[in-house]
Amino acid sequence: MSRTYDLDRAHVFHSWSAQATLDPMVVERAEGTRVWDDQGHGYLDFSSQLVFTNIGHQHPRVVKAIQAQAAKLCTIAPQHANDARSEAAHLIAGLAPEGLERVFFTNGGAEAVEHAVRMARLHTGRIKVLSRYRSYHGGTNVAVNVTGDPRRWASDYGSAGTVHFFGPFLYRSEFDATTEEEECERALRHLRRTVELEGPQTVAAIVLETIPGTAGIMPPPPGYLAGVRELCDEHGIVMVLDEVMAGFGRTGSWLALDAHDVTPDLVTFAKGVNSGYVPLGGVIVGERIYDTFAQRVYPGGLTYSGHPLACAAAVATIETMRDERIVDNAARVGREVIGPGLAELKERHACVGDVRGLGVFWAVELVSDRETKAPLAPYGGSSPAMNEVVAACKKGGLLPFANFNRIHVVPPCTITDDEAREGLAILDAALSVGDAHVEG
Ligand code: PMP
Repeated sequence: MSRTYDLDRAHVFHSWSAQATLDPMVVERAEGTRVWDDQGHGYLDFSSQLVFTNIGHQHPRVVKAIQAQAAKLCTIAPQHANDARSEAAHLIAGLAPEGLERVFFTNGGAEAVEHAVRMARLHTGRIKVLSRYRSYHGGTNVAVNVTGDPRRWASDYGSAGTVHFFGPFLYRSEFDATTEEEECERALRHLRRTVELEGPQTVAAIVLETIPGTAGIMPPPPGYLAGVRELCDEHGIVMVLDEVMAGFGRTGSWLALDAHDVTPDLVTFAKGVNSGYVPLGGVIVGERIYDTFAQRVYPGGLTYSGHPLACAAAVATIETMRDERIVDNAARVGREVIGPGLAELKERHACVGDVRGLGVFWAVELVSDRETKAPLAPYGGSSPAMNEVVAACKKGGLLPFANFNRIHVVPPCTITDDEAREGLAILDAALSVGDAHVEG
């Protein structure tokens, strides 16, 4: 193959993979919504990699800001103040609801969840953390235990005090609900019972993705998050909203929570904050939790917390998204092109069981039988049928984000109407491959 490929296979130990069966694509370059391999094949990136290049690849303004910061000051320890970090914290806090004014920086999403949970436990003096099944919160110790995704099973040795509950998901309702209202009401009742039976005085936090992403892009019904807020208030429980994937334009608003009229105590973020050009994440901290650590030491930190290169990238990303109205673009393309386009694909393809989402954050759920909703690959596993659909996407020149029986349509927020149509046409052809596996 190539030196890059050979060295990768000889020395790189990859995430989430059986090492010997891996056949990674060698990426030569990327720009905007497109990626090219070393054979000269171009791909439309409908995955935003791992749903993080919200501003697209190689945005010149962000690249320039990183270069300028590198020329000025590459790094400085977290105990000092630094202009890139101060400006980034100011801009990020400015996007959060009023009352969340401080930013604790990390290098990514899992670390953000680790620290949000630690803050909640220290603030409340309680240990338990409740989170939903069908969720993803990261691959480190507490984060992987809080995660409600089958991939955690392999590395979950149990972390004291993590408890899971069912969240609202009408398509596969755990509550036999037939309407969003019923699903919302029953899911809230179930969560209330879970808190009561666990003992409210033992529950430090409820951690929720505002819209669960990796586990299936399941927008909560209206009123659900407000109901969780009410329950948290009743019992002094810290409400953590994880915006690592859903934040920074993905849903067509700056934060996904903007659409829900709810103020959490802590917000975790990463990915889209600077489109992953330099690793960055963090926790936006509400005043009540901040006050706990105003005089008392917060016992946690990271060597590279608020890294100047990452923060300079965040400042440039947020300013560029604002100046170029990129969040509005995500909302509009979702509403006018991707949403209607996927609805039409559902009409025409028997293997499509459900389509849901908003902005540039959509899931296409593939089934072998629409009536029974039997998934085309089992939850937590793979199948030849799904592998064929994904291979057809790639063959057609599309990089999809595939997870179990789902294809997620999660392109950069900068995607144009024409690019969206081009990707949907490739997906259309790939879904015909899926149709061949539909029973009957
Ligand atoms: N939370 C959510 C909602 C995520 O989607 C992810 C990553 N997919 C994480 C946390 C973990 O982030 P990271 O991989 O940067 O640690």
